[in-house]
Amino acid sequence: MRFVLLEAYPLLYVNHLKRLRLLFITHLNQLYSASSMVKFTFLGTSSMVPTKERNVSGICLEYDGEFMLIDCGEGTQRQMNMAGLNRNKVKKIFITHWHADHVAGIMGLIQTIGNKDNDIHLDIYGPKGSQEHFDHLLKASVFDQQLDIVVHEIDVGEEIKKIHDSKKYEIWAIMLNHSTPTLGYRFVEKDRRKMKLKELEKLGVPPGPLFSKLQRGYDVTCKGKKIKTDDVTTIVHGKKIAFVADTRFCQQAIELATDVDVVVAEATYSGHEEEKAHQFKHMTSQQSAQVASMAGAKKLYLTHFSQRYKSLNELHEEAKNVFPETFIANDLNTVKL
Ligand SMILES: [Zn+2]
Ligand SMILES: [Zn+2]
Repeated sequence: MRFVLLEAYPLLYVNHLKRLRLLFITHLNQLYSASSMVKFTFLGTSSMVPTKERNVSGICLEYDGEFMLIDCGEGTQRQMNMAGLNRNKVKKIFITHWHADHVAGIMGLIQTIGNKDNDIHLDIYGPKGSQEHFDHLLKASVFDQQLDIVVHEIDVGEEIKKIHDSKKYEIWAIMLNHSTPTLGYRFVEKDRRKMKLKELEKLGVPPGPLFSKLQRGYDVTCKGKKIKTDDVTTIVHGKKIAFVADTRFCQQAIELATDVDVVVAEATYSGHEEEKAHQFKHMTSQQSAQVASMAGAKKLYLTHFSQRYKSLNELHEEAKNVFPETFIANDLNTVKL
């Protein structure tokens, strides 16, 4: 009925067709060109102990509907509540090291998500010795553990190595320089091809299997014509994030952060306490900024602050003098890329 009515008014009919075409192209864009947004939320930004303003270490990385935690300090699951993040979506936990301020929240989190009836598989990654630490954690309280958990002990040295490869992203790791074996992690979104929809429309390529093939990087033949993937797609580079956990200033931190979009790095001390930082195997904010600068990173977020600093202005200024694109991480801040 509506269609007949539109036919009676040619201009309305044309506009309606234009709107339909636009909707169709938007749909194709979403189907073939849209990237999954990478984002992460700071769940804790204090070192050693929680303060009124800051919880201990934990970051929730969100990609393609999956949550990954980088460390899980005490109180992480409550912080997830506060941030509106569904704990049941956690599929992987990347443990940097087994100091309590980075792992004490694991048991509580496992108990909570293990209470669900549905099968949940959880992968836990950590340095050598993680299986034993994890077994002790499980024995520390009484509960009916129903989760399917696999602990992956990562055997890497001071050279960065790929430790996980999935369809859309990779995780790399490297050994840092801390008082116990400590890993730094790098999230790498894979490059993808964006379809030139107008070009394809001109060439008369119909959406469907040919689109998928072109998007996967193959040339196709359509109506007797050879169509090269490079002519009808553009490469979109994936995002990279480095998580530099507790460490002294070291070459591995720079390697981990090389050319990343964002580096998250510990900055336990201010520049005045460089000796202390060295002694306890941590970094000053200046040193974190040096890492970002030497690595050619685009942005730096400082975290893991000592509770001795009531204001972080000094740490921030010191770092900005070395690397202007430095930001202070606060609990529940979300960074979108
Ligand atoms: Zn720590
Ligand atoms: Zn530590």
